[in-house]
Amino acid sequence: MRFSFIFSILLIFLSCGSQERINNPEEFKQRIAENHQAKNVIFLIGDGMGLSQISAAIYNNSNQYSLERFSDLGLHKPHSSDKLITDSAAGATAFACGIKTYNGAIGVNQDTLPVKTILEEAVDKNLKTGLVATSTIVHATPASFIAHNKYRKNYEEIAEDFLITQADIFIGGGKKYFDRRESDNRNLVNELKKAGYSVNDYFNHSIENIKSIPDKKMAFFTADDDPIPAMQGRDYLLPAAKLSIDHLNQNNENGFFLMIEGSQIDWGGHANNAEYVLEEMKDFDNVIHYVLDWAQENGETLVIVTADHETGGLAIQPDSKMDSLNIAFTSTYHTGVIIPVFAYGPSSKNFRGIYENTDIYQKIRAAYGWE
Ligand code: MG
Ligand code: ZN
Repeated sequence: MRFSFIFSILLIFLSCGSQERINNPEEFKQRIAENHQAKNVIFLIGDGMGLSQISAAIYNNSNQYSLERFSDLGLHKPHSSDKLITDSAAGATAFACGIKTYNGAIGVNQDTLPVKTILEEAVDKNLKTGLVATSTIVHATPASFIAHNKYRKNYEEIAEDFLITQADIFIGGGKKYFDRRESDNRNLVNELKKAGYSVNDYFNHSIENIKSIPDKKMAFFTADDDPIPAMQGRDYLLPAAKLSIDHLNQNNENGFFLMIEGSQIDWGGHANNAEYVLEEMKDFDNVIHYVLDWAQENGETLVIVTADHETGGLAIQPDSKMDSLNIAFTSTYHTGVIIPVFAYGPSSKNFRGIYENTDIYQKIRAAYGWE
């Protein structure tokens, strides 16, 4: 009798103890990390952002950049199926579909057949999904996560795929491919509204004033065609990231997949314009910083930052000084250097090492715990 009394006191004590542990957020985070499970994935792509762009961004910013907060780093090999030097379509399709394909391919394999993307898989599994870019939303990088097309410049066809796979939020330029189409008279903005989207654009609203509408899907067009460069005043990427995370995380049991692209780091490289590259890197830095703060607080989110390839063969010249760089370029196209991958959160350790760009797709699936 006395023994069982002591035993039950002991049981109560033990159960209180374990209850306490579960409620401790630090240990909860730790547990998730050990289980290699992420509820959410935020995938940040700096198009054209090689190590030299990152170095230049650090040295142009008094020796600091948000990427220094990551402790798990790897390198990926960006070559495509038909070229050693990839383009952004094959590069993003490798991340989105886990396949090496030809330059110009959007979510299709070497035989131009559609391959299911990680975003589409997330939709199937009732996760919420989002795409944000500082290019048009039909441009190669965002398109490869939601569309299937044999050629990256079929922008009007790619726009149609936004009605077939319906992301919960998408933000980017390229409104004209939806509502002033040359190939047909369809008005895809109206079709999106009929499909339950709240559609807004930069003509009528500043994105800072847009609030998440929890029960609706949301689209925001930031430009008719390509958005302007950051150095000309484009400043929507951070508020777009905030709105997307807010929208995707609300009342969400199942988690989300969000891709955010700093699209124009690449365009600065093609233009061999150092100021263009550095201003785009600053813009992207603000977003990485915000996302890391959010993920740290959230504890269930895997954050990955990488690039599809390097652009411009950027070199920091010998006469450069801290905050006063002399930058040269060796190409107006992409180069073949291997690309850094930064990971934070549950499963981040899996991103260490050197691997193919296609492995990032596998590593994201593994982080979600998908079979
Ligand atoms: Mg891109
Ligand atoms: Zn490019």
